[in-house]
Amino acid sequence: RRPIIAIDGPAGSGKTTVTPKVAEILGLLYLDTGAMYRAVTWLALDKKILINDEAAIAELVSQCTIRLEKPEILANNTPSLRVWINDQDVTTAIRSPNVTAYVSAIAAQKAVRATLVEQQRTYGRNGGVVMDGRDIGTYVFPDAELKIFLTASVQERARRRQIDLKEKGQGDFSLEQLEADIYERDKKDSSRAIAPLRQASDAIEINTDHLAIDTVIDQIVSLYRE
Ligand code: C5P
Repeated sequence: RRPIIAIDGPAGSGKTTVTPKVAEILGLLYLDTGAMYRAVTWLALDKKILINDEAAIAELVSQCTIRLEKPEILANNTPSLRVWINDQDVTTAIRSPNVTAYVSAIAAQKAVRATLVEQQRTYGRNGGVVMDGRDIGTYVFPDAELKIFLTASVQERARRRQIDLKEKGQGDFSLEQLEADIYERDKKDSSRAIAPLRQASDAIEINTDHLAIDTVIDQIVSLYRE
């Protein structure tokens, strides 16, 4: 098997920006596992299924097809991964505040995790992949060759998210509200029963508070090449 890089961390720590570029530089495949949980959440909301109706959501996740396409690195440096679920392009929709608000509740459900983790393991079975998420280094690929845990203060993560939402035309939110949202989501992700958000004991932590994106990318690339 070729090597696997696991990049985990809390909401807004920079994973989705950093990971596709690491993959591009190293010639590895890229998988944004958060996009998969987001796509299922979008579909459940679209079908007006109640978030706590686990049986209906289990049925939904067993029947849906998620497709992720290699991201293009755009001129403004933000990678754009195209995401489809059942042949609907949900690239923009899965980043909406509404999906963000419900994704942790869906991602805590047993059937959802079982199905998506199986797809992630299949995708990575020959290695040569960089995966970002919450449980890649602890659960999906506990034997990954390199594990990174990205962190940043809640304040910094809220600031980044505010800029990001504004740039994408998805709303102008106060820092207070975004901080509260991020805090809530981290709490839900780290307190769920199955594969909660945790730093693997053998993961290397990178605090990105005062680091430029390119510096974070360079650090991960160097760690891989060591
Ligand atoms: O990384 P992103 O913010 O897009 O992830 C959205 C949500 O998906 C997380 O808050 C978490 O609830 C869930 N997730 C997960 N396990 C992963 C990746 C994401 O539970 N490996």
